[in-house]
Amino acid sequence: MPVRSDIVVVGGGLAGLTASIHLARQGFQVDLLEKHSYPQHKVCGEYISNEVRPYLESLGLDIQSLHPSEISRFLLTTHSGTQIKSPLPLGGFGISRYRLDYALYELARAAGVRVYQQQVSSIQFSSNEFSVLTTQEREIQAPLVIAAYGKRSSLDTQLQQSPWMAIKSHYQADFPSDLISLSTFPGGYCGISQVEEGIVNACYLVKTETFKPYRTAEEFTWEVLRKNPFLKSFFSKAIPLFEKALAISQISFAAKPAVENHILRCGDTAGLIHPLCGNGMAMAIHSAKLAAEAITNYYQHKNRSTLENEYTKAWNRQFNLRLKAGRVVQRVLQQPSLTSALVKVAPMVPGLIPLVIRQTHGPLIQPAYVA
Ligand SMILES: Cc1cc2nc3c(=O)[nH]c(=O)nc-3n(C[C@H](O)[C@H](O)[C@H](O)COP(=O)(O)OP(=O)(O)OC[C@H]3O[C@@H](n4cnc5c(N)ncnc54)[C@H](O)[C@@H]3O)c2cc1C
Repeated sequence: MPVRSDIVVVGGGLAGLTASIHLARQGFQVDLLEKHSYPQHKVCGEYISNEVRPYLESLGLDIQSLHPSEISRFLLTTHSGTQIKSPLPLGGFGISRYRLDYALYELARAAGVRVYQQQVSSIQFSSNEFSVLTTQEREIQAPLVIAAYGKRSSLDTQLQQSPWMAIKSHYQADFPSDLISLSTFPGGYCGISQVEEGIVNACYLVKTETFKPYRTAEEFTWEVLRKNPFLKSFFSKAIPLFEKALAISQISFAAKPAVENHILRCGDTAGLIHPLCGNGMAMAIHSAKLAAEAITNYYQHKNRSTLENEYTKAWNRQFNLRLKAGRVVQRVLQQPSLTSALVKVAPMVPGLIPLVIRQTHGPLIQPAYVA
């Protein structure tokens, strides 16, 4: 027998969990399908911009109780040995996805969201109604679906090949709790910052063809990352806490629609900003808020095209410029000549780095209004 719901959310990462909690708090029946169990480690830099802090707290998340690091300083280091320091305009906090996603999952369940650990195999739309099917043959019917299945899923009709892969591990290391560093190396860049309990996250993005000649992440780190003196110093003392580093490939930064086949797309499903900007999680959470607000309005007027237009406009207004700025910053850091021009100019123009950071971030997001 199919289950009936007001809203089905496909994917229980940050975007899916946030949208589910927000909508459940508005009194809607929300069904969330996530293919993995909680908690899980994820490949992510785990620095989250303070812009989402008041909003997450208004949904009931007690961020302080998760013991995050508080991050207010930025350091850029290059493999030619240059370093630039800058304050972070809004700052952020460091928290592992293992801990953050799990806390949101518990909040979602407490808010009345029905969470199923099942993989969605198809989403069909007909006669103004969705039917969502899972590989375990569960069927949920609802007038609305949010797709929050992340940057790569078999459900995505927009799948594109990408040359980028990423590797992440946690370390025991001496690294300042208020600092996030971004370090270039030949073929990629690496972010380092503290998460909870003094644990240090190091996560890097690299072209697959650059990584291929090396057998393991450890060998790649040893041979290539250490060409940057700052990374050499970090990795020669850091003690890995994972048995094996986590890796993902095919990370695409292609533009995607905010609505497709009447499905509202949130988080990375609608577009991923380059990780060096450190804003993907805030964007995922913010897009979930935009979708939840548009859906709340929809239940007043019941006009599907108004819902889709309202959400698409809000998404474009918030994120289009950030994605474009992220692509420019990525290009600069990929070109050694442009990077060295940046590191020469930046000390002469003290506001330059904060200005660049502001282009890829948003202002504080207003707390949720819960009826
Ligand atoms: C290398 C790297 C470093 C990054 N560093 C940072 C950083 O420091 N700061 C920052 O703000 N952002 C960072 N990001 C971006 C950030 O990780 C993402 O923007 C964020 O995770 C997006 O959340 P999401 O909910 O859209 O997707 P996800 O968190 O990926 O969640 C999607 C969920 O959908 C589930 N799913 C997929 N398919 C199905 C299916 N068919 N059925 C059911 N469930 C399904 C998946 O299991 C997953 O749990 C980084 C990204 C990368 C690649």
